[in-house]
Amino acid sequence: MRRALLGLLLVACASHDEDAALGPAKIPDPPKDAIAKTAEAGPVKATVQIWPAKPTLGDPIYARLTVEAPAGLTLSPPAWQTGEDGLPPLGADELLRYSRHLILPEVGLHGQRKLKAASVLLVGAGGLGSPLALYLAAAGIGRIALVDFDRVDASNLQRQVLHGTSWVGKPKLDSARARIQDLNPNVHVDTYETSITSENAMELLRPHDVVIDGTDNFPTRYLVNDACVLLGKPNVYGSIFRFEGQASVFDARVGPCYRCLYPEPPPPGLVPSCAEGGVLGVLPGVIGVIQALEGIKTILGIGDTLVGRLLLFDALGMRFRELKLRKDPTCPICGEHPTIDRLIDYEAFCGISHAADSAEAGVDIGARELAERLERDPDLVLIDVREPHEFEIARIPGAKLIPLNSLPARLGELDSSREIVLHCHHGQRSMRALEYLRQSGFKKLHNLRGGIDEWSTEVDRTVPRY
Ligand SMILES: [Zn+2]
Repeated sequence: MRRALLGLLLVACASHDEDAALGPAKIPDPPKDAIAKTAEAGPVKATVQIWPAKPTLGDPIYARLTVEAPAGLTLSPPAWQTGEDGLPPLGADELLRYSRHLILPEVGLHGQRKLKAASVLLVGAGGLGSPLALYLAAAGIGRIALVDFDRVDASNLQRQVLHGTSWVGKPKLDSARARIQDLNPNVHVDTYETSITSENAMELLRPHDVVIDGTDNFPTRYLVNDACVLLGKPNVYGSIFRFEGQASVFDARVGPCYRCLYPEPPPPGLVPSCAEGGVLGVLPGVIGVIQALEGIKTILGIGDTLVGRLLLFDALGMRFRELKLRKDPTCPICGEHPTIDRLIDYEAFCGISHAADSAEAGVDIGARELAERLERDPDLVLIDVREPHEFEIARIPGAKLIPLNSLPARLGELDSSREIVLHCHHGQRSMRALEYLRQSGFKKLHNLRGGIDEWSTEVDRTVPRY
């Protein structure tokens, strides 16, 4: 029925008085080929539909009359069917699929075709990437390119709703592609199984209209920002931690960039990752959906996007706030006298070279080596710097709990003459503890590489992973 209506040439509403006169029994059916005729070029017969003014009269009560079109009237298929105006045409299945968009004047046929013409690069198919991929695909974005190199882990499923239990252990890109194609087979999905680096970023970003960073780590954030500024592309930003999130749209052509907001990254280790600090599973859903919305608005050119504004979300207080952002004239990449004209080493910029340094300095110790050392050296001290609630979930036998934050106050409990191994969940907090102890004069220090997680997988599988 809907498809037929769209093919009709003229549509008129009847006045209320005509309702009574027009009943289904009195209305002759239009010739079966009437609809087809309207689609032919040249002189046509027009079909007029008359609806009763009261829709409550039921469906379908309407009059169909076939009338001669005025002499000289010709009909050619509209641009949305032919694509001759440069935007891709829409098929009958797409009209039905996107009908709730098509009846929004702000989107309509033209907007839907803009979405179909658009190409979005999504960096990361994880917590933020999940709602992003799902809603962008559902909305009919023509091409979605995904960059990820990870595999689905059971601990992802609490928030990464793009992936399912049957995909655990398999590449996220395969899972993402299958889910997107099932949701909307009209979407063309490109996958890049790689991490985004200074070497490949320009090439990866260049073909796309909008870039959305769903990775939520500092090196990638600065890398994506700089590449977008250099290429003149909008960068839809989102970030989450524990119960709080942020979102913005950085577009240096018309507003500030990420560096205008944060010229320097925080010192390494100061901001814990979600793996260390935790995140409420719904939170990336909220922020990722905001990113998807901003991406779609950017493509359609409607509404006010978050360009020049930083949206802050507090999930526990259920509050949204926003900060005005200004373009910084001294910004090193989008300012008046930029000093950065190419991509740099973002790992080094963010100070992430500690792992390599510690390995070189010989402070790293693997889980298996630690197990052997604990067997033959009863003097070895094992300190767990995680939080008490983590200690409750899993612990290495013999480890003493001194949470990182209470380390300065409990320094007296440690004997600097003995060899000390520090451990946490994945090895990052314990590295900070090691740095602190080193500054406090301790010398015989080791860091359990990979933390208790590696202990669970390499040494003792009865220690639960979390
Ligand atoms: Zn800037």
